[in-house]
Amino acid sequence: MQQEDLQRAAKEIDDADFILITAGAGMGVDSGLPDFRGKEGFWRAYPYAKKHNLAFEELANPIWFKKDPFVAWAFYGHRLNLYRETTPHSGFFKLLNIAQSKKDYFVFTSNVDGQFQKAGFSDKKIDEIHGSIHYLQCVDCCTPNIWSAKNIEVDIDFENFRAKEPLPTCKYCGEVARPNILMFGDFNWLSQREEEQRANLVKFLESINNKKLVVIEFGAGKAIPTIRIASEDLAREFSATLIRINPRDYDGPPDAIKLPLGAKDAIEKIYSYIEK
Ligand SMILES: [Zn+2]
Repeated sequence: MQQEDLQRAAKEIDDADFILITAGAGMGVDSGLPDFRGKEGFWRAYPYAKKHNLAFEELANPIWFKKDPFVAWAFYGHRLNLYRETTPHSGFFKLLNIAQSKKDYFVFTSNVDGQFQKAGFSDKKIDEIHGSIHYLQCVDCCTPNIWSAKNIEVDIDFENFRAKEPLPTCKYCGEVARPNILMFGDFNWLSQREEEQRANLVKFLESINNKKLVVIEFGAGKAIPTIRIASEDLAREFSATLIRINPRDYDGPPDAIKLPLGAKDAIEKIYSYIEK
C-alpha cells in the first residue's frame, strides 16, 4: 500500500510544472534538530525549562528579553548556535534537485532555522512565516530595521542557562536585540522581511497560471496547524495534489497522498521512483 502511494507521489511530482514545499519542524528532525514535540521533548532539550516548569510557549516568549535577557539569550543563542552547526540532511539536497528540475518552486515554512537556505534553496523562493533566527531586531522596536545576525556570537553557560556578556544589542539605541522570530504572545515582531517574502510567494502563485502544481508537506504538526491549513487551502485553490509526509499526523483530506514517513526517508524513497 505504501509502495503504491510512493509511486503515486513520484508520478505526481514527475508530472508537475511547479512545486510548493511546505514544512514544519518535522523537516529538520533527520538533521538531528529537536522538534520540541510535547513538554517532555522540550524538557529533554532544555533541562532549565524542566526545572522551572516552563513549557515551550512560556520560554519562547519575548517577555524574557525584559525579565531576564540572559535567560532569553541562553535559549535563543543556543538555538542559533545549534542551527549554525547543523548540516541539513541529504533529503534537502535531493528535494532541491527535484525542485530545480521544474519551471519553478517555492518553500513555505514555519521553521526559523534557515536550513533550506543552507541546503542551497534560493532566499528569494522562501517564505519564513515565523521569521528567522538569523536576523535581529530591537527589543523596543526603536527602528523598523532588521539586520543579519551573522556577525553575532553568543556564548552560553548552559549549566546555569545564562548567556555570557556581551549580549547582542540594538545597533541604533543600545538596548538588547532579539531574534526576528514571531514568538508566543509577541506584539513587537517586525514582519516586513516576511512581508517581502510573502510578496514573492504571491508572484510565484500568480505565475502558475493553470499549469500543474504539486504541494509537498513535510513534518507539519497539529499543535499550531498553520502549515497544514495552508497546504490544504493552496492545494484546493490550485487543484493541486497534496502529498502529506508525516510519521504521526499523516491524516488529511481524502484526495491527499498520505505518507507515514519521516522527511528524509520519504524524499529518498520518492526520489528513487522519479524518472531521471
Ligand atoms: Zn533599538
